[in-house]
Amino acid sequence: MSTVLLQFLLVLLQAQAAPGAATRADILVSGGTVVTMDANRRVLNDGAVAIRGERIVEVGPAAELRARYRGAREIPAAGRIVLPGLVNAHSHAPMVLFRGMADDRALMEWLEKYIFPAEARNVSPEFVRAGTELACLEMIRTGTTTYCDMYYFEDVIADVTARAGMRGVLGETIIGFPTPDSKTPEVALEYTAKFIERWKNSRLVVPAVAPHAAFTNSAESLRAARALADKHGVPLVIHLSETRDEENQMRQKYGMTATEWLESLGVLGPRTVGNHGVHLSERDMQILKRRGVGISHNPESNMKLASGAAPVARLVELGIAVGLGTDGAASNNDLDMFEAMDFAAKLAKHASGNPAALPAEQVVQMATIGGARALGLEHEIGSLEAGKRADLILLDTGRPHAVPLYNVYSHVVYALKGSDVVTSIINGRVVMLDGRVLTLAQGEVLKRAQEFGRRVAASLKN
Ligand SMILES: [Zn+2]
Repeated sequence: MSTVLLQFLLVLLQAQAAPGAATRADILVSGGTVVTMDANRRVLNDGAVAIRGERIVEVGPAAELRARYRGAREIPAAGRIVLPGLVNAHSHAPMVLFRGMADDRALMEWLEKYIFPAEARNVSPEFVRAGTELACLEMIRTGTTTYCDMYYFEDVIADVTARAGMRGVLGETIIGFPTPDSKTPEVALEYTAKFIERWKNSRLVVPAVAPHAAFTNSAESLRAARALADKHGVPLVIHLSETRDEENQMRQKYGMTATEWLESLGVLGPRTVGNHGVHLSERDMQILKRRGVGISHNPESNMKLASGAAPVARLVELGIAVGLGTDGAASNNDLDMFEAMDFAAKLAKHASGNPAALPAEQVVQMATIGGARALGLEHEIGSLEAGKRADLILLDTGRPHAVPLYNVYSHVVYALKGSDVVTSIINGRVVMLDGRVLTLAQGEVLKRAQEFGRRVAASLKN
């Protein structure tokens, strides 16, 4: 018997002796407070996460895992919180280049005098590339590992996202007027079909179909969008009941709410994400529940544009998947999910007059496994469990605003900041280590963004 065969048999025997137990890990994150966000909400003090390839192989006590996975590259996490990577359930990534361009204005004036002209004069593939690089840099630095996006030149966004090592559910905007890259919604639908073909086997990019909203699309476009999503089994992303004004438009035009109208067209179904859901009726929420639609809640954008407060507590009560998002940076003005968590918790309390509304643990859930559920990715991401993709972040808890620590969920929502994220691993790849992003050249990204900022400012002068 050859030695190779003997070794092979020995490995087989070992595998039988410990069924299911992995014997090798590439990375061992060990010694931190591991917040799993699994079904039992297990929190391990002095815990560890073992990673092999793209996936988590085991989560458990640090001492045990250190003994079992000798030889793995160790990332020490003592004094750190280890959290599932955050899921930003709604964004328009390249809009970071419009950050702070026009604030404190009424929604229609803001859109018509600033955002639409700035987009018409500036949005190009180069603009989108520079903007998405800046957005990915900001998201990685502040703990987001997956984001859901809707913009133009989405193929460029997908390319940058995959290069940056981030996970994205990405969709090209389909809307009933000319955009920087599509003269008609039909062209945008064709673009989407090619986009899906190109990205459907990606490990990081989940292509989606993204009709902008009910009030900005025709019945034909919306039906075609649904058919395309069904054909490829991909998510459908749409703005839903963001403002009272759009709901009034829907009632005048169709005598129905946006949700009722989309339901009548057969657009709603599982793996559908409605962005905002601020002005939903009880009947709307029942429809969303029945159809398995998820909602992305964007408290900062809703507050800044005075859109209102979404009925988040009721959505959660109904068992609807609710994720948390930042929306585009033009209406926020950043992509920091720690701020989004803080605002979500406080807005729910402020709006309801109930300080017990939306407790911290529920908000952390929305930013992790809740967002994963809303995007239809709960079997792959959103919690730290064996078998799932290795998407996780490490937070420094030694800074003045984080001391002392009584409750880890309270800390994550109310005390910690995006800048406390020190290390990030996405799909088993270390994308940031001890504050240094490894997948993007920060200096160059910032320089290009500054240059585009100057061009945007000049374009608005005329
Ligand atoms: Zn939006």
